[in-house]
Amino acid sequence: MNLRTWRSALHERAELAWQETRTRDYVVAQLKGLGLEPRCLAGTGVVADVIFERPGPCIGFRAELDALPFPSSDPEAASQGLIIARHACGHDMHAAMLLGLAQELICRRTVFTGRVRLLFQPAEEVLSEDSGAARLVAAGVLNNPRVEHIYALHVSPRLPAGDVACRAGVLMAECRRVTLTVKSRGGHGATVGSQTDPVIALARILSQLAEDAQEKDPGQGIASFCMVAGGTAANVRPMAVRAEGTARATVHGGAERHVNRLRDRVATLALNHPTLDISLDSVPGYPLLVNDDAAAALTVVALSDAVGSSRVHTMSPSLASEDFAFYLLHRPGAMFLLGIQDSKAVNTTLHSADFHAPNDVLETGVRCFVAIAERHLGGKQ
Ligand SMILES: [Zn+2]
Ligand SMILES: [Zn+2]
Repeated sequence: MNLRTWRSALHERAELAWQETRTRDYVVAQLKGLGLEPRCLAGTGVVADVIFERPGPCIGFRAELDALPFPSSDPEAASQGLIIARHACGHDMHAAMLLGLAQELICRRTVFTGRVRLLFQPAEEVLSEDSGAARLVAAGVLNNPRVEHIYALHVSPRLPAGDVACRAGVLMAECRRVTLTVKSRGGHGATVGSQTDPVIALARILSQLAEDAQEKDPGQGIASFCMVAGGTAANVRPMAVRAEGTARATVHGGAERHVNRLRDRVATLALNHPTLDISLDSVPGYPLLVNDDAAAALTVVALSDAVGSSRVHTMSPSLASEDFAFYLLHRPGAMFLLGIQDSKAVNTTLHSADFHAPNDVLETGVRCFVAIAERHLGGKQ
């Protein structure tokens, strides 16, 4: 099967986190078609092992299955709040590349030793301690036999298409979800007075926090709000409005420290609105994504095998967060980045509604995966 066919089939089936049933069924069918024996885990997750003829260690590779929510492209449906799922984070590409790895490994059954576990994970985009990775780990995916090392890639608009990058240590930020809530007594929309208006209070606080953020060192933490909700009618003052977002940092504990600073700042700003109940709450999202030193070094060598050393970059830690971090709390491993910057005028910015990424990089991703497997299981030191 062709990588592009897999990707477009997965793209067409885009489903939101924990709802990836058609995606799961497609992946299961493809793995069975390759002669593997996939099993379902954590609801919509799929795991399959490629077992080589000679014994040896087990290493894991992970891809994600979930897509992101966007308003419907039909304006009327969108105005009624219809949400559609769209693969705007490249997870369709990651899953296609993992199927491609399966296919390549099967061809090497007599050459490699040990086994490779392929993890098709649901719900990466949920920013919760109960994400797809956390549930797969809890379901024992890293045992029987013990997965010694685990790897993954993520497509990246920060690199030219087909170039790759890895680094030892922190690759991606830790994050916490934050919710800023403003509660009021409600009332008629004809009454004026910003002191009692929760919409105005929320707008003022958000704009002040954005201004503060411009003066801060992003390494110490950033926060952004991506969702605003509240209200039921144009002339009924809402009882509550809220903004939801994330706080992130690329140092241990930095996200929580940043939340504490935000909470203090919000408490100060709330003094301007004494009749409103204003609070900032936070729950843990993902831990810091820390690549193991030795696994990152092996990855860099393998990436050079796959694409040539001139296309392998190191890069600074990203403020994005990824639940692959949960696996790395339990096993050494590494995530690397695969560039998707395209010379054509398409938007390769992740999480954009019009995200597009070139199919040409799919083969490169598979080659990189195979090269890592070869370094562990193919007798290459
Ligand atoms: Zn994403
Ligand atoms: Zn992603």
